[in-house]
Order: sequence, then structure tokens, then C-alpha cells
Amino acid sequence: MRVLFIYPNLDAEESFNHGIAALSGALKARGHTTGLIHLNEVFSPVPSPQEIVERVRQWGPGLLAFSVMTQQYSYALSLARVIKASLPRLPLAVGGIHTIMCTEHVKADGIWDFVGIGECDQALPELVDRLEHGDPEHINVRDFCVRRPDGSYQDNPLGPYPDLSASPPKDYAIFDLPSLLLARNGWQSIMTSRGCPFRCTYCFNHEVVDRYRKQGGQSPKGYLRHHPIPRVISELKDLKRRYGDQIQTFIFDDDILTLDERYCCDLVKAYTGAEIGIPFVLNAHVQAFREPVARALSESPCRIVKFGVESGSYELRKNVLARSMTNQEIIDAFDLCHEYGLQSSAFLMFGLPYETREMMEETIGLIARLTPGRMRWSIFFPFPGTRSHRICQDGGLIDESKMQAMKNFSSASCLKFSADTALFVRKLQRTFHWWVNASAGFPLSGEYNKVTAEIDSLDLDAWEEASETIRARDREISTAYLARINTADPAPLNDYRHYSLRYTEVMAVLSDFVTEEPGDFKNRPVRQWKAFRE
Ligand code: SF4
Repeated sequence: MRVLFIYPNLDAEESFNHGIAALSGALKARGHTTGLIHLNEVFSPVPSPQEIVERVRQWGPGLLAFSVMTQQYSYALSLARVIKASLPRLPLAVGGIHTIMCTEHVKADGIWDFVGIGECDQALPELVDRLEHGDPEHINVRDFCVRRPDGSYQDNPLGPYPDLSASPPKDYAIFDLPSLLLARNGWQSIMTSRGCPFRCTYCFNHEVVDRYRKQGGQSPKGYLRHHPIPRVISELKDLKRRYGDQIQTFIFDDDILTLDERYCCDLVKAYTGAEIGIPFVLNAHVQAFREPVARALSESPCRIVKFGVESGSYELRKNVLARSMTNQEIIDAFDLCHEYGLQSSAFLMFGLPYETREMMEETIGLIARLTPGRMRWSIFFPFPGTRSHRICQDGGLIDESKMQAMKNFSSASCLKFSADTALFVRKLQRTFHWWVNASAGFPLSGEYNKVTAEIDSLDLDAWEEASETIRARDREISTAYLARINTADPAPLNDYRHYSLRYTEVMAVLSDFVTEEPGDFKNRPVRQWKAFRE
């Protein structure tokens, strides 16, 4: 059968989708044909719904499968309605993290024939086999809620977690990788595992584990799974062979690659031994980052170790986010990273439930102490289905109309804060790195103190006007300091150390690394939209 995926990756960073690559690989291994419509502004112009209908009609799928995240669901739903009106006999499937977290809402929309409720690596090929052969048993395929002719759904149980040691190769080529790599400065995503044993309230993992336990009888212990290392290495070599002139960095996008210390060390050693040579970055956890891993990484082409810090307030982390690490554990992990000559990166959030200005200042203080090589921040968003969403609902914290109107979660908060706190969140969203520069005890901290004092004094109207100028002003200030570093011999790195915005408006890089890596805001390539990838 011909299965066409639709990936509505709109109003978001253009991204590779491992779910689609895995499912397409599994379908191809069973002899089916797959294609992809990847919708993102990078593939400009984004076609209209009617144009998409025509392309779907031309391609002639037997099943149309959407992969959605929460922010893209309303677009996917409206597109699915347009497609259904024009092609009423074409079955529509939907999957992705949103359908797992919000299954009942998705079913209530009444348009989807198949709603994926788990990892469908084995279930989707089985469903497609049965549909192809007109087998009425397709209604019983596990991992799916299947719509009956009367519009009600049959809720099938979840099967076991897919076994990653036996899964078919991922279909990377279903994506237009040359265009994606161009747009992403040559960064290619890799995943060697699935699952995470932590239960952070803002993350989907606790809900996935609970559903597999309740509806599939699966032990939470089985959730973390790895692809065999030889398979990962051969995947990497294959990508290098096919796209090596475009890939600058591999990003191991596993939730946390350092969780299984033995696997991580063996993988890193195999990567180094296989002479892949391309630098890589990975996600770590401060409570799962010890000396053996740091040493193995320091002897490899590892570029950056990324940690989720989220907040500098221990109380907020523990009581609201269910992240119980102490500030000292965070400091120790970053220090270990730096001792081994590894560049660190910190993920942060502001506008957390019950967060006060003082707590945000604790975050600034902690980051100033850690001095990561780079940091990336976002505004907290209560994803429906997560415990953090329930915390916000129970506390009456959500401004529902704001939340419905939001298209992305990095630029504004949908929580109700006092006017002063809300304004401070907005200011940090643009200028967090300046506050860190002011607090870090850098020789330039005094200069940045003047800048943050000025920002702090702005009322809402003045901030609205000033906020549009931040990026240009940041670049102007930073360029002047970098010029002083670059023109002196030896370079006075310490004298002019500072963070500046790089790549996006929510990422700052320390000047030590900017001099090696002259990152800039993306020159988004505008590529002719490619209708289909097969
Ligand atoms: S550690 Fe990261 S991946 Fe794991 S549950 Fe927490 S946020 Fe999710």
C-alpha cells in the first residue's frame, strides 16, 4: 500500500522527525511505499490546503498519516477536514506525542479513522497490511483507537514497547535532508534510544510510562531502550557517506544519552574508533554524568554536553517540576564537564508555575556561577496531558484564551502573573544573557549592569518599543568586544568575556566559543517546496 505522511512542522524550527523515519522504515521493510509532505516555512512557499489536497490526490495514498505535536494539532485538524471533504474515502491516521497525551480530545474531533496511542513501529505496518488486504480485523490493531462506521471508537490496548534491537533501519531519506541540513547549519539529529526514567511534570514521559503500565501491562523498567551500538555506528557511517559534505555536527537527541553509563561510554568509544570524525553533541542529566562518561567524551569529537537546568530555584524544581537535583549537583556536573575540557550547555525556562522574580534571579545567579558555554531558554508552556498542566489548572494559573492563541512556546507565557512578574518574564525572554553577563563577575559585568538597570527601569510601553531593538543592540555591543579580542595578541579572552545571542533569539553563546565558531542568525534558505519525498 502507499502511505503518505504529513508533518505539519509550521511555526517551529524546521526539524527532522525520528518517528516518521522509523515508521517509514518499518513500512518499507514490509514492502509498502511511503512518501512525506513536510510543511515548514523553510520550504517556501508553504502550500495552501487546497494545493495539498491536489498533491495528495496525485500521489494516491491508501492511507494518510499525520504526525503532530500540540502546537501543530489545530492546523493538522483543519487540514484534515479539508482533505476529508475532498477525498472522503481516504482513511486518515494521526499519531505523535499530542495524540498520546490528549487521546480523548483527538477522538472527539471525529475526523480521524485511526488515532495512535503509543509507539506504532509494529502496529502501523500491521494496520497497513490489514487495510491492504481488506481484513476487517484491522479494527483490532493494538496501539490504535479505531473509528467504527457509526463514529464511535474501539479503544485497543497498547502492545509491548517496540524492541529497538530488532527494528528495521530508519528511512532518513524520506526527508529532504540537503535542505534541512542547509537550514540547520549542518546539524543532523540522531537517536540511539527511547525513554527516560525521570518524571518531570512538564514532560510527556511520565504519561507515556503510566499508559503503557495501565493499558499495556508494561513495566516502567522496560521504557528505556537502546539501539545496538553497531547499528548506530553503521547508521552514522551511512549518513556520512550520503551527506558527509553537508553534515557539520551530529546531535544525539536522545532524552538523556548518559543515563546508561556503560552504553554511553561504549557508544562514544565506538564512535571515536570508527573514525566518523564529525563533531557531536548530546543530552546529559546532572544526576547521570560521572567521570567515566566525561573522560570518554573528552577523548572523542564531542563538542557540547547539554544539561536541562530549567530553574535556579531548588524549591521550584522540586515542588513544581519534580526535578529533585540540588544546586550543588548541578554545579558539580558543569564543573566536571569543564574540567574535562568539554563545552557545556544549559536549557532554562522562565514563567514557571508559581515562579517569582526572586526565583528568576536565582536562575540568573546559578547560570552566572555555572558559566556554561551556551544556554538556551524558553517560556514555560503547560502541555495538555502533563502533570504540569494539571498543576496549572488546579491553581487557576492558565489564561485559556492566550493559550489557545499561542503558536509557539518560546515567545510568550499563557500563565496569569502579576503585571510586574509578567513584564520581567518578557524582558528575560529577550535579555536573559545580559543579566547573566551582569552577574557573572566578568570584567565587563559593570557595563552589563548598566544595561540591565536600564532594561529594568522600562515600563510596559517602553519595553514594547525597546524589545524590537535588542537583537541588533546585542550584536553591536558584542561585535565591538569581539573585535578587541580578535585584534590583540594574545587574545584577551577573559577581559571581554560575555554572552551574546547566536543562531536564534533564545540562545546565547559565551565569547570564548564565538571566536571559534562564528555563529549567526540563520540565513533561511528558501527552497522550492518539494511536494513529496519517496
Ligand atoms: S529528564 Fe528530561 S526527558 Fe526525562 S522526564 Fe525530565 S524533562 Fe523529560
